[in-house]
Amino acid sequence: MTATIINGKEIASQKKVEIAIEVQKLKELGITPGLAVILVGDNHASRTYVTNKEKTCRDLGMYSVLIELPEETSQEDLLAKIEELNGDPAIHGILVQLPLPKHISESKVIESISPLKDVDGFHPINIGRMMTGQDSFLPCTPFGIMVLLEATEISVAGKHVVVVGRSNIVGKPVGQLFLNQHATVTYCHSRTKDLQFHTSQADIIVAAVGIANFIKADHVKEGAVVIDVGINRNEAGKLCGDVAFDEVSKKAGYITPVPKGVGPMTITMLMYNTLKSAKNTLRF
Ligand code: NAP
Repeated sequence: MTATIINGKEIASQKKVEIAIEVQKLKELGITPGLAVILVGDNHASRTYVTNKEKTCRDLGMYSVLIELPEETSQEDLLAKIEELNGDPAIHGILVQLPLPKHISESKVIESISPLKDVDGFHPINIGRMMTGQDSFLPCTPFGIMVLLEATEISVAGKHVVVVGRSNIVGKPVGQLFLNQHATVTYCHSRTKDLQFHTSQADIIVAAVGIANFIKADHVKEGAVVIDVGINRNEAGKLCGDVAFDEVSKKAGYITPVPKGVGPMTITMLMYNTLKSAKNTLRF
């Protein structure tokens, strides 16, 4: 079997067109969706991410502001900046780029963002609402994965999903979203005994581990759907995922590539959440 490639770049482009149309409609009502991104310090990868977020905002007709703070910024000053943005009516989404310098508590910072502007979907209130199946901002990468499957018309209800990885930003929430859509979910992590026993039973595997080419053909059932979240560099310095694409794509039914798989969906869902937040202001 040769897997069908799920083209995340193409699906993301379609979604962005839909978002840009909605942004235009909202602007006609006098509301321009606005995203504030805070970058503390000068992490090279973080800078690339925030630049892409800013550019995508502008491309879709949204307002975007980048707040750059020096590495030595105190937690108090960062929280004060977030408080100011919480009260700014031009800002509908606030994103603090992670990781933060070690002297700043990530959880304190996340909890200081108004849940109404938490477009990353990391605030405990939004996580709790997601867990109880209420309307909320969904974390962007897990949300993007669900949209990819929906766009590819892959049904989830009743499927056995094995999520490898249990981080707060990817593994845990994506498993919850699958559960919300009536899948049977197994979580695997670094203490899991006999990983292959679990993954080889999966109808859908989500790999969110952060180890290059970790999931091999032997881990995968014939015809399974394989979603690769990983962003790694191999020994040659080339971008690659957590899945050994060449061998797994010969066995899987569907597979996401790296790049052009899950990655483009993450930023697209951030735009979606910012638009949603701006639309929410019409309700109050
Ligand atoms: P993370 O916080 O480092 O979590 C990695 C998870 O993998 C942990 O739960 C860990 O288990 C588990 N793990 C590590 N070694 C394992 C092993 N040998 N067997 C089974 N599980 C193992 O990483 P993350 O933030 O979730 O990110 C995962 C990957 O996705 C990274 O490559 C990251 O760059 C990428 N990513 C991509 C996007 C995107 O937009 N495409 C977004 C976010 C992240 P323990 O919990 O037991 O330690």
